[in-house]
Amino acid sequence: MSVSPEKVAYSASRVLPDAHAEPMVDASVVVEDGRVVAVTRRAGIPSGYPEVDLGDRWLLPGMIDLHVHLVWDGSAEPLRAMQSESAELTAIRCVQRAHRHLVNGVTTVRDVGGPHRMVLAARSAIEDGVASGARVLAAGSPIVMTGGHGHEMGVIADGVDGVRWAVRSMLAEHVDLIKVMAGGGVFPRGERLDSVQLGLDELTAAVTEAHNNGRRVAAHAHGLRAIKNSIVAGVDTIEHSCFLDAEAAALAKENDQVIVPTLVAFHRYVELGTENGLPAHPVEKAGRALTGGFEAVGHARAAGVPVGAGTDAGGRGKPHGCLAAELELLVKAGLTPREALAAATTVAASACGRDDLGALRAGAAADLIATEADPTADIGALTRIDTVIAGGTPVVRDGRPVLGTVGG
Ligand SMILES: [Zn+2]
Repeated sequence: MSVSPEKVAYSASRVLPDAHAEPMVDASVVVEDGRVVAVTRRAGIPSGYPEVDLGDRWLLPGMIDLHVHLVWDGSAEPLRAMQSESAELTAIRCVQRAHRHLVNGVTTVRDVGGPHRMVLAARSAIEDGVASGARVLAAGSPIVMTGGHGHEMGVIADGVDGVRWAVRSMLAEHVDLIKVMAGGGVFPRGERLDSVQLGLDELTAAVTEAHNNGRRVAAHAHGLRAIKNSIVAGVDTIEHSCFLDAEAAALAKENDQVIVPTLVAFHRYVELGTENGLPAHPVEKAGRALTGGFEAVGHARAAGVPVGAGTDAGGRGKPHGCLAAELELLVKAGLTPREALAAATTVAASACGRDDLGALRAGAAADLIATEADPTADIGALTRIDTVIAGGTPVVRDGRPVLGTVGG
């Protein structure tokens, strides 16, 4: 079917305007020019808006994945795969991967690091309607100390002046946010999970430069010292946050910070294990990160720190579009299904500073998904999204891609 996004009303038996709202029965989302005009009872659809009935379904806002790497393919060796092809081909693949997210109900992704030209080209292609894909908010190249986590694709910076220059060089490329590496990571052999990389003075300089220019800062931090440095420096989101303790959670709450635990990233390492060819050291580190991550979610929840949903999609063993698996893990870690849904919608939107995303209200982007089962009772419903509408245009209907959108 072809539907004009100019004027249309999507109806369903249940509409959930946001994660914590009461569902509206027999309701409709009225859309004009890709934006929501109103959420209303079906009887209240204004004239001039043709109705598309999605039937006995839950209709809710499109989801946001706060932590992806579009330049990577999710294979066992994503970095090698990227380095074996041209930058131009990787940029095209970035678009295809953003489309994978979209057909899985993720209508916005926050890309937190990759060689910046490729990701920014994909962002523009999607924004300009050249190709169909999840909206991309991009950090560009991450800011990394010499030899630090992700230095293969980062802007290398040491010292306050170096970091200031690096952040400005990314701002000059019109990135949407800044990503900094505050500590070590799981995969590189020589890196320790508890290591500190960019220090407090360097992180503070990055935050000042970014905030001076209206951009938010995401900090990669596993170990407690890296987490605390990030919190004190005033970053906006703490990525991975595995060893967050009660004291750090209380500090993050005071500073209005969000954690993005990326449990699925560690879970996949543990699940794949050495029997699938992974070296022993990342499997062992991921096991500790996963145990820590479950506890970190508990500390955050107890302190009232918002938990945002991110997957590290593109990293080893993490396919693009796997956000629903993260939401299931967040529920196992103690969030209610509604809180997990908020992690991927309202919390994620506010972490991105985008009040036009994550909820259905007048003026919001008309990004909608639908499921047959009730996601507020069973978060697993989000593994079976059968309808996706992006900017008012159907991309998936009844589980099938709509013709005319790019396949992925
Ligand atoms: Zn990552």
